[in-house]
Amino acid sequence: MNQLVRMSHLYAADAVEEPSPKLRVPFAQSGAFVCKFIIGEPNDRAVCCGAPVPDGKSWCAFHRKIVFEPTRPGRLR
Ligand SMILES: [Zn+2]
Repeated sequence: MNQLVRMSHLYAADAVEEPSPKLRVPFAQSGAFVCKFIIGEPNDRAVCCGAPVPDGKSWCAFHRKIVFEPTRPGRLR
């Protein structure tokens, strides 16, 4: 009976969904209230995430997690 409800609970608690690729914009055209996380190569045609960031931070919730959580724990030295 409750299977569908439980499915949605898997994603609700801790996981932040990656913003849609459709939101991505050229870095040069990103405004003040969109995520500035560079997708792919940071060259002159760099594209950033573009997800709305209503609180004026540099990154959306999804990329803030990536930026602030080291991807290689134990390799700090
Ligand atoms: Zn982002």
